[in-house]
Amino acid sequence: MRKPDFKSALITVAALAAATACASIEFKSGGATLRLSETRGAVESLVADGAERVVPAAEAFTLQLLDGKGEPTRLKSSEFAFEPGVPSPSETAAVVGGTTTLPDVSSKLPCLAWRHANGLVVKMKIEAANGEFRFKPSVEGVPAGMLLEWFDGPQVYISSDRTLYWPYWDGGEIADYAHRPYSPSGFVKRFSQSRSCTYPERCQMQFMAAYRDGKGVYFSAVDNRHTPKAVEWERVDDRNVRLSLQTFCGDLDAEGAWRPKFYYSLRPYEGGWMEACEIYRCWVRTLPGFEKPPKRPKWMYDSPVNLIYPVRGEGRDKGRDMKPNRYFPYVNAMSAVVKYGKLLDSRVMALLMHWEGTAPWAPPYVWPPYGGEAELAKFRDALHARGDLLGVYCSGTAWTQISSIIPEYSQEQKFVDEGLWRYMVRGPKGEITARSCNGHDAQRLGYDMCLAEDWPIRTVDEEVGKMARFGIDYCQFFDQNLGGGWRLCYARHHRHPPIPGAWATEAMSALQNRLVATAGRHGMLLGCESAAATPYVPNLFYNDSRPMIILMNHGRPVPGIAFVFHEWQCNFSGNMCVVEDGDPFWRWTYCFHQGDMLSLILGADDRIVSAWMREWRNDPFPEQDELVPLVKRFNDIRKKHPSFLLEGRMIRPFVKCESRPVTLSCSLWGVKNSMEVEEVLTSFWENAKGERIGFASNWQRKPSELKIVYADGRAETRVLAPLETIVLQAR
Ligand SMILES: [Zn+2]
Repeated sequence: MRKPDFKSALITVAALAAATACASIEFKSGGATLRLSETRGAVESLVADGAERVVPAAEAFTLQLLDGKGEPTRLKSSEFAFEPGVPSPSETAAVVGGTTTLPDVSSKLPCLAWRHANGLVVKMKIEAANGEFRFKPSVEGVPAGMLLEWFDGPQVYISSDRTLYWPYWDGGEIADYAHRPYSPSGFVKRFSQSRSCTYPERCQMQFMAAYRDGKGVYFSAVDNRHTPKAVEWERVDDRNVRLSLQTFCGDLDAEGAWRPKFYYSLRPYEGGWMEACEIYRCWVRTLPGFEKPPKRPKWMYDSPVNLIYPVRGEGRDKGRDMKPNRYFPYVNAMSAVVKYGKLLDSRVMALLMHWEGTAPWAPPYVWPPYGGEAELAKFRDALHARGDLLGVYCSGTAWTQISSIIPEYSQEQKFVDEGLWRYMVRGPKGEITARSCNGHDAQRLGYDMCLAEDWPIRTVDEEVGKMARFGIDYCQFFDQNLGGGWRLCYARHHRHPPIPGAWATEAMSALQNRLVATAGRHGMLLGCESAAATPYVPNLFYNDSRPMIILMNHGRPVPGIAFVFHEWQCNFSGNMCVVEDGDPFWRWTYCFHQGDMLSLILGADDRIVSAWMREWRNDPFPEQDELVPLVKRFNDIRKKHPSFLLEGRMIRPFVKCESRPVTLSCSLWGVKNSMEVEEVLTSFWENAKGERIGFASNWQRKPSELKIVYADGRAETRVLAPLETIVLQAR
């Protein structure tokens, strides 16, 4: 990264003489001009290269206080008295045409302030460097008996004719905002279900970018403590969308003020989602744990294909008919392992669901396996004798009171006898509840465990130890801990602060360090559901990717996660989770092109199904006889090019590729959606030696034309056979 060039920036305070009453505030940085509104200090304009990148924001910030009972009071900047920052006289330079221009030295920049009648003071220091504007907020004077819960500023508004890169659940683009109802609150509810975008969790990166015609704006929290945030957007009216980096404020200084050491960055840039991801990747490279690639197990270099299946039930596991299926006793699955090992000419990892001896999806307890250790040991040994691998899904760090799948399974008595209620996550009012998979019609009734408390840490460490000692090769322990994250805890009786903050990320990182050490002693790898969020990537670098989920928000998946993290985190194509319908050839091709390792999902009779949510009997999937050879071809390419597709970095295209657009319809969790995609998918890679390569795949089962335009302007059109992949060489 370039070092900030503070000298390149200028600050102009128009009509400085009247600054205390009403000032127009303008900052310049590397050719970009940022303007804040006269009366509120809200972001009004960001111009670079003659192009406006934002629209005026209504507020500079919003924040929320909680009283002693957890009742919220939300305040917005317009309810405060605004004091534009006034530089000290010694810093004043020449007055030119009614404006005063100051040399920009960050330490001398004025600090904007807002004062509320209740004593609250919000300050915002703004620095300018290399075309970037850095916002450093602080909040002081929190009234006695109140807690500052979150702060949401600076507020950035964009025009709805821009495309948004949104790092929601493995990331994608939003171009049509109208599917969301207006939501002027901007506040992501703590217990909101699967659609809220919290970092570091199902949101893996703390930035958003909006662009049109190659003119973009990048909005990020440059926060190396990874304070929990909602990385969200809301539609304020038909034409305007607000971007939010709402940040939880549990980390107070000795004076009880919130003075974070990080800053929010707002900057213009040229390009689209890839160029924005490059900015974020440059920052990721500076973080601890990203100095070098992870130490991957040897088997990963053989690119085993996962065979994912449950040993109980026949798909779509809600309800109570969860009898053992044809893959139990476990060794019964060897026929499928042998079959697909041969068809794929590959090592295979049998990746089991519903194998827990407690109940399926009944965390934290999983061991011993269903049917006993001896049964699973026979399968483990049969797999290992062939050079194949054993993996399991778990269900994360929740607590199960009663299984909704196996009604006999209950931990209610233990919960009371041992006072385990003390260790559960609490909401702002002290309430105790749970999020994922919870309900009579879901998988369990229970809570979430607080991972800053000793008892939950010890308990999950013991469970991980049992699986590792048994000889399991891969454990997706953090299923439902999306991105490797966890719930926000407000418990006032726990040893952590009563408001979520960076302490929560540090608690999870500490837990992961401990579990990775426990698992690593026996060669077991840990993973999570969806790609790991930024701070968790060094511990969790092989995960069940979920690129399709953004379709539920009417977005279009783009491989931003792979672009930023692939050299440190190579995931696998996964169980396709909540996908109910959508062309499987496109989905598997998409996963190959984002550099994922590959999976097949087993259904009845050693056949495969198109997604985990499909009921076996309702997923005839006649095309599977074509999908399996496609996966074999993809995996052969992976094995041939590990320096790119396992260890490499995704790069921008070095040739321009165009193919016909096609509309694809998909259905996820009851949400029907359609999107435009290209007939030929491409991706481009660079290895550690600096060599580059590209791949282009026709995912259709008919020929497709690909127009390739080289850097020298030469163009050619290639016809790709059905399901063909070609290699594009860099010249
Ligand atoms: Zn707690």
